[in-house]
Amino acid sequence: MPNLLILGGTTEASALAAAVAERGIPATLSYAGRTVAPRPQPVPVRVGGFGGVEGLACYLREERITHLVDATHPFAAQISANAVAAAADAGVPLLALTRPDWQPVAGDRWTRVADLDAAVAALAGPSERVMLALGRMHVEAFAQQPQHFYLLRFVDVPEMPPKLPSHALVVDCGPFTVDGDHALLAAHGIERVVCKNAGGSGAAAKLAAARALGLPVVMIDRPALPERREVHGVADVLDWVGHGVDRGV
Ligand code: NAP
Repeated sequence: MPNLLILGGTTEASALAAAVAERGIPATLSYAGRTVAPRPQPVPVRVGGFGGVEGLACYLREERITHLVDATHPFAAQISANAVAAAADAGVPLLALTRPDWQPVAGDRWTRVADLDAAVAALAGPSERVMLALGRMHVEAFAQQPQHFYLLRFVDVPEMPPKLPSHALVVDCGPFTVDGDHALLAAHGIERVVCKNAGGSGAAAKLAAARALGLPVVMIDRPALPERREVHGVADVLDWVGHGVDRGV
């Protein structure tokens, strides 16, 4: 019988947890513990770091994990690198469940940058009204460009107010819609959006809204990750675990 460890914190991980629970496949979903109230799950959940590569490898052995699925966010580079190393160390097969990155379409005005520092540098210039669609751990880097007004949207109310001289904070965990994001950008008079190339449909509404409003977007490219086997669908993971269904393809 398989025994999965799913590294989560994403919509994809939750979808996989639902699919394995439905099929009675034993699995544990792991959260880093960044969100105050993660959504309830139909499989057992564990929360918090493992203690680096060694800690994760130890967990894999002790819990007799047969399959490790890295379904973390494409920007969660540390845990994904740890997963590759720990899986090799413990001799447990690893599969990454990821989303394809977004590609610009007609009407998009993207400037692609390599990382957060480059995004901060891209904002050098006169004062603008900027939406930082980035999450609380990354916005304070923009204090280096204090001339701008920043619109922030977080999943939880932060313990400390962000150290950005001029900002507005919206607390909302979505799901976001194009109409809703259009209204939000317009209401705050936003002139530019900064975001990560997360991919997926959930976070894409702001891009469609920015396109409709003709706004430029600073798009942060994904970090490089060690090579690993990658799939984009829950059904592919089930196939890998040996519980695939005939998809008629
Ligand atoms: P990260 O920088 O790659 O990881 C930092 C450390 O957090 C890891 O070394 C690990 O600690 C712990 N960790 C991360 N994900 C974990 C998981 N699923 N289960 C247990 N421990 C985990 O990660 P991050 O960018 O801070 O992201 C943290 C979580 O938020 C991930 O689960 C990710 O899927 C989710 N998330 C991230 C983003 C983003 O933009 N980065 C966006 C949405 C959701 P130890 O070394 O002690 O094991």
